Amino acid sequence: MKAIISDIHSNLEALVAVLADIEKHRVSEIYCLGDVVGYGPNPRECIDLVMNHCRVVLLGNHDQGAMFDPDGFNGSAERAILWTRGVLENGNENRTVREKRLEFLAQRPRSVKENDLLFVHGSARNPLNEYVFPEDQYNQRKMERIYALVDRYCFQGHTHVPGIFIEQMKDEPYLFVTPETFDYSCYLDERKTLINVGSVGQPRDGDPRACYVLLDGNRLTYRRVEYQIESTISKIYSIPDLDHFLGDRLREGK
Ligand code: ZN
Repeated sequence: MKAIISDIHSNLEALVAVLADIEKHRVSEIYCLGDVVGYGPNPRECIDLVMNHCRVVLLGNHDQGAMFDPDGFNGSAERAILWTRGVLENGNENRTVREKRLEFLAQRPRSVKENDLLFVHGSARNPLNEYVFPEDQYNQRKMERIYALVDRYCFQGHTHVPGIFIEQMKDEPYLFVTPETFDYSCYLDERKTLINVGSVGQPRDGDPRACYVLLDGNRLTYRRVEYQIESTISKIYSIPDLDHFLGDRLREGK
């Protein structure tokens, strides 16, 4: 069984809770679709955990922003990224530890393909930066282009909105289905499917619990995991470079 996690965003409490939940299942390998850092208060701890627990870790746009010049981020996201960079580059740990983390981030691939499974942060077309939102089910041209690049199943992060896109023989050929619709577990069939795995550290579908997926053969299961949200929020409040809003949104899951 595989676990696929994404968009941790330096939320240590959420990541620890998700790893504990993964432990309860017979998971042989963990894939992380990127955005390990950005927004949240614990970038170093989160990098260390994914380094030690995940077989595959992709580069996310926030991870890239933390290493190079952040581009295309709004004010509070950019401030969080610059703060993250400061924490990773300085801090009072020995230099080898710091360099190991930065080197790890710098070496992250943008996509990984294993047989008929494709893993990206954004989309198959633009693995780092393109969002595939639920409303894109109506954007036929965009969906066609993305589907053309997918052999079978594509796991993607970036939107922080969980759910799957399936093809159907109708006037509207693409359909987005939320996990609630299929009671969090379904079998992927022979059709090409795009799977938005949701976000560990900053869910945006109105459910504040951490989100990730399990893949057991063709069976896909979305997991929602409670964690100590208030602890994360107080840490965010205590760091001047992280906007209070970044904490408040965790409580609301948006
Ligand atoms: Zn993200």
